[in-house]
Amino acid sequence: MMKLFNTIRETRDFAGSLRENGLKIGFVPTMGALHEGHLSLVRKAASENDAVLVSIFVNPIQFNNPEDLKKYPRNLEQDLRLLEPEGCTAVFAPEVSEMYAGEVQKQFDFGPLALVMEGAFRPGHFNGVAVVVDKLFNIALPHRAYFGEKDYQQLQIIKELARMEHPGIEIVACPISREPDGLARSSRNERLTAEMRKAAPYIHLVLEEAINLAGNHTAEEITKFVTYKFESHPLLRLEYFSIANGETLQPVNGKTAPGDRAFIAVFAGEIRLIDNIRLI
Ligand code: AMP
Repeated sequence: MMKLFNTIRETRDFAGSLRENGLKIGFVPTMGALHEGHLSLVRKAASENDAVLVSIFVNPIQFNNPEDLKKYPRNLEQDLRLLEPEGCTAVFAPEVSEMYAGEVQKQFDFGPLALVMEGAFRPGHFNGVAVVVDKLFNIALPHRAYFGEKDYQQLQIIKELARMEHPGIEIVACPISREPDGLARSSRNERLTAEMRKAAPYIHLVLEEAINLAGNHTAEEITKFVTYKFESHPLLRLEYFSIANGETLQPVNGKTAPGDRAFIAVFAGEIRLIDNIRLI
């Protein structure tokens, strides 16, 4: 039977007892409203570890937009039903008051990694992510933690966090899970209007076109092309498009190299969607 914990103490005690018994713990942090993308992480964690802990916590301090936080989809009952058959051992689903009981929050410095793209357009976002993941690592006590390439910049930030604060935890990157029409799966997709849902696969389509151009066009030319593709689109509004190094995430000038990626953020009405793809 899958366990459900609401407190830090019972979750840490449980994780501690798993460790004492020599079991390897795989950990999957989420904000709930689970979909196939999340479940693919849980399955990978289950295949590589003896026990899987999943956290479900909509972390208020990583939201820079209060409306986005208020309207973020929440459905714990359904999440638990989805997790049970996937090999999840225990779920940690705390209240905000349990996670933030008044202590001063850490300030992390991730350098240039956190200054571009999501870091530039969502001030404070990555510090909020790092604060909660740092806490969750101290509660779930994992050997391995699983993160999706859907949030590629977040994945790089977490790798840096692990290097600095949790060198014993292996960070495992998981590929982007997409809908059949190419749209990257996201809890926020639930909030798209029917019209915007129909339009949204255009984002992935344009990224695929960027791959095709990468062979004989510079980063600047590809960026110009993508900008034009969105200027001429009636519904979707481009926030940024960037071709960046897959590790440092710093923008590429001129010709692209193996490992470079294209990153994009787009507004579909009120809903902000992100995606990324490896160029070659
Ligand atoms: P979230 O609940 O959006 O915070 O996501 C929790 C974890 O699931 C993060 O590591 C995400 O990168 C990952 N994730 C979310 N959507 C996808 C997806 N479509 N494919 C792969 N991983 C995903």
